[in-house]
Amino acid sequence: MTTQTNYTLKPPVEIPPGYLNIMGYVDESEVNGPGRRAVVWVQGCDRACSGCFNKASWSFEINQLISIDELAAKILSNPNNTGVTFSGGEPFWQAPALAQLAAKLKTAGLNVMSFSGFTLAELQSEKAPPGAQELLSQLDILIDGPYVESLAINSPDSPVSSKNQKLHIFNPEFQDKITWASDQIEIHILKDGSRIITGFRGHMNLD
Ligand code: SF4
Repeated sequence: MTTQTNYTLKPPVEIPPGYLNIMGYVDESEVNGPGRRAVVWVQGCDRACSGCFNKASWSFEINQLISIDELAAKILSNPNNTGVTFSGGEPFWQAPALAQLAAKLKTAGLNVMSFSGFTLAELQSEKAPPGAQELLSQLDILIDGPYVESLAINSPDSPVSSKNQKLHIFNPEFQDKITWASDQIEIHILKDGSRIITGFRGHMNLD
């Protein structure tokens, strides 16, 4: 069980302004939020949840730097997508850049959802990472709280992965659109033959 509270107030690795440090990106997913959506997995998380499906995302070292403008253009180049989901890693350690990205995408008509290992109360407190309020203000949906293995839910109709996590629907339009489940899986086969497995607990795995 992970109940880490001694988090620092800023991520340990500096990211150039205007850029995100991401672990990966999927162009079109149906298992990481409502409808079809792009998914951005950010790099860096200091929670070390037991049973984390995405340990490769823990390191804060630079993995893949991408500018906010380039990532926005990539996401908007797919007309099938109605939204974007931020996962990780911990999205709120890169909250200012994700808030800028979200604002661009919302202006273009997309909805925005994020996972976070922080609870909503932590994100609204003085201990929140920088930019947390800006990012919260852009979100239509938030799933909050760390993954707790002893409280795991493996259900075909649960959008959360463990019982402590909560679904916050900030935009009432999505009240009746919570149709995906945290234990669904998609396998994306990339042009170079590598695979991305995504959906299970809202995370990704590279193969
Ligand atoms: S489950 Fe999520 S919050 Fe927990 S260590 Fe993995 S990436 Fe971080």
